[in-house]
This record gives sequence, C-alpha cells and structure tokens, in this order.
Amino acid sequence: MKEVPAWLVDEGSTAEMRRMLSSDSPVDIETLAARARAITLRRFGRTISLYAPLYLSNHCPSGCAYCGFASDRTTLRRRLEEDEIRREIAAMKKLGIRDILLLTGERTAVAGFDYLRRAVEIAAEEMPRVSVETFPMSVEEYRELARCGCTGVTIYQETYDRGRYEELHRWGPKKDFLHRLETPERALEGGIKTVGIGALLGLSEPVEEALRLYRHARHLAKTWWRAGISASFPRMRPEQGGWQPPFNVSDHQLARMILAFRIGLPDMDLALSTRERASFRDGMAGLGVTRMSIASKTTVGGYDEGETGERGQFDISDERSAGEFCQALRNRGIEPVFKNWDGAYNGPATQIIPTGGLKETIP
Ligand code: SF4
Repeated sequence: MKEVPAWLVDEGSTAEMRRMLSSDSPVDIETLAARARAITLRRFGRTISLYAPLYLSNHCPSGCAYCGFASDRTTLRRRLEEDEIRREIAAMKKLGIRDILLLTGERTAVAGFDYLRRAVEIAAEEMPRVSVETFPMSVEEYRELARCGCTGVTIYQETYDRGRYEELHRWGPKKDFLHRLETPERALEGGIKTVGIGALLGLSEPVEEALRLYRHARHLAKTWWRAGISASFPRMRPEQGGWQPPFNVSDHQLARMILAFRIGLPDMDLALSTRERASFRDGMAGLGVTRMSIASKTTVGGYDEGETGERGQFDISDERSAGEFCQALRNRGIEPVFKNWDGAYNGPATQIIPTGGLKETIP
C-alpha cells in the first residue's frame, strides 16, 4: 500500500499547536481568544465573507457511514435540471448571495463531469464566485472547470486517520484515501484559485485530527502560497441513517481549534457553517472565523421551491434567514461581505505553477 506523504506525519514545529489544542492545556482559552481576536482584526478587519451551498444532486454510489445521502439511505434521489438551477440561483440572488458552493455526491452517470461543468457555467453567469464541493477530479477536469468560471474547490478529507477512513467509507469511489488527499493540489494545478479543506469532527480523536488538518493546511499554504487556502471545522450532525459518531467534540474543544488555527495560520480563511448553533457562530465571529455559510439548505434545491419535507444530507443548526444573520453580525460590529472578488480579478485565468516549493503567478 502506498505510504501517506511525509508532511502528514511530520511532528516538526507542531508542539505549540498541540499545546494550544489540548483541553488540559496550560494555555487558557481566554488568552488564546485575545491573541486570535487581535490577529483576526489586524489581518481581516471586522468582516466575515458569506457563501451559501446549493445541492445540485443527491445521487451517490458511495457508502460513507456518516452521510444521509449514502447509497443505502432511502432518501428520494434527484438532480436539478438547467431550468431549476437557474431558478434556484435567482432565488439565492434575491437573498443577497453572491458566493455559491455547488454540491453533488460522488461521480455518477446522472451527475458526472459534463453535468457539473454546465452547472458551473450557469452559476458563473450570475455569481462572481462559484465553488464546487463534489467528487475528486483530474487536473484536466479542474482546468476545464476553471475555464468555465469555477474559482474554488472544497474537498474535506473527513478523517485523516487512514484506518478510520477505511472503516467509515464502506464502499464506493470515496474509499481511495490518497486520491482524495491529493485532490486539493490537482485542483490548484488545474488553475483553481482557492481550495477549502476540513475534517468532519467526531470521526476520530479530535486533537490528533486537528493536528493532521493543520499539517495539511500548512503544507498547502507553503507549497501553493499564492493560492487561497481555507480550513473548516464541521462537527458531525444528525443524519437520517442515525449513525452516531465515536467522539463528541465539545464547544470548548471546537473553539480551541479555531483559535489555535488562527494563531498558527494567521492569514488563512477559517470557515464555520450552519451546522453550528447561532449562539456559537455569533460568539466565534471576530475571534478567528472569516467565512460563514448562510441560509443553508442541505436538500437538493430548496431556495426557490421552499421546503419539500425531504431530509437533507445532514441537519443544520443555525436556521436564521440571511437578513437575520447579517443583522446579528452588524450588532457585533462585523460587516457581512457577500463577495470579495472584483470582476477584474476574475478576468483571464491566472495560472499557478510549481517552482520547487514556491509558486509564481503568470498572467
Ligand atoms: S459523503 Fe459524499 S460521497 Fe459520501 S455518501 Fe455522502 S454524498 Fe456520497
């Protein structure tokens, strides 16, 4: 079996991060919060950039134990057709959303690359920032998506513990641990400008998981320093299969992770989704988090047609409307930002090429 890359197990320069992450750490959380707040203010100002997910399809051949769209779940399977995608995007635009994340399950004949490329083209007509959270692709496919207007790729490893990964990904294409791990770099090589990585918290021991996520983020930031890298901290939420995670990650532990990442990776975008309660999201805004999802639906569509009674990929927790959420941010002196790219920046594709550890951008 091919070995995991050296950077994933490199203990070098991680002692301080381990100290900050541990719940019995001598560094108290208030000290971390003060440092993280100061860094966030200095590097990002009082802003949070906002995005919203649009599930295009819930067809999936994989059997991830923790997912409401796994192929053994009895959920109704469907995909959005072109006219439905346009209607959903129009409804999202009415909410003020300008940064969209398109999602599918793993690659299928119903929702494969050609389907996704067309969805990206449609979204890019209306949205200045279009990202995808779908199946791992080849460099050539990412290059084609970038050409069609895709600016970002989100791909969570779910767990960096290879043994646990093997156990939880019961069947299907997602079983290939290394192919998934190498995906962010294939996306960047294909000209995608931003990648988002993360671990689904609850699947394995949280401190070790956070350390491996940190190593991945550090590796990408060092190797692809002109690209935008973001890290996310999704906690396992109830899903229709009723699967129970082996680890419970408390608010305290999650807060420590976010604060420690802000201190360890001061320039990196850190994202927190509507999986989390409104009070927790409000509390972390300004303390390290710089990106948040809003008004999320985890069913296929759901913005134009409203509630269908279907259950989504997982249950969300913060159910506030876009307006309510933005007002809550403003009440805390934080400005919600719906997009942070000018049209000019999104002009002709910028190519990022490896130069032995550092990358140069060629216009
Ligand atoms: S997590 Fe993704 S790949 Fe796994 S079953 Fe769910 S939709 Fe499919």
